[in-house]
Amino acid sequence: MDSVSNIENFVLPPNVPFQRVLTRDFEFASSFENKVDSDLQELGKSILDITSEYVNYILQNDHLKLDEEFIQRNLDSFEQVLRNRFALMEFKDSLQHSKDSIRNNNMNVSELTIEALQEYQSSTEDLKNFDDVVISHYEERKLSQTSSEFKKFLKSDKNYAYIRSISFIIKNPEDPIPELEEDDDDVNISGGKISLKDPLSLNYFVDPVKSSVCNHTYERAFILTHLSSGHSECPINGCRNAVTRKNLIKDDMMCLRIQVFSKRKTKPEYETAERIE
Ligand SMILES: [Zn+2]
Repeated sequence: MDSVSNIENFVLPPNVPFQRVLTRDFEFASSFENKVDSDLQELGKSILDITSEYVNYILQNDHLKLDEEFIQRNLDSFEQVLRNRFALMEFKDSLQHSKDSIRNNNMNVSELTIEALQEYQSSTEDLKNFDDVVISHYEERKLSQTSSEFKKFLKSDKNYAYIRSISFIIKNPEDPIPELEEDDDDVNISGGKISLKDPLSLNYFVDPVKSSVCNHTYERAFILTHLSSGHSECPINGCRNAVTRKNLIKDDMMCLRIQVFSKRKTKPEYETAERIE
């Protein structure tokens, strides 16, 4: 009863922080978006971990063979994760855009008074459907979004490049990894082959290391001998970069190439030998 008698004393604030519902929606959408993104990142990380653990395990066990399909599936899943993260970024952008446009609209709304209530209600009519504002902008963006934008995003992801390299090397141990074309789905294999032999000893690599400065690869024992005999330059013809022990890192991709290559090479011989016995 008190509230009814007090109604005469009720004064409208000069300006209410109106559209509280919208504020709540924004907050919900932002926290939801952050949660989804962190879940996706988590998922991507586990695909990456599984892949690298699997490859390391196979590399340490000479009698095992890398499963092409397994790696391909991991690559596809990882790409899907990135695709979803990309869509989420688009959504985030739409969210911000909607927030800005609603805020701009609010600036044009006159002060909330009893007299202006009618106008107020009608002017905010189209702002009520927050979801619609976001979704329509998102759909617009999606339509204008070309696949090359996603390719650019894909290309910038180092972990994707890592899994993609593994997937490629398993099938083509002697070929250089092709660039990911932004506007082309075809895989262009360039003419040249990757040498699987140490430039110093001319033997196949066993324990390859590469210079983090020029990316040239050498057999560990031979480059160390080269360095300890007073040389400080990369031994590759035409490459004049300095090499130090500290610059040398294990060349995992070359290890993989060697293993895939040698298994391919020795398998038929092994089978033949068995048959002869
Ligand atoms: Zn070099």
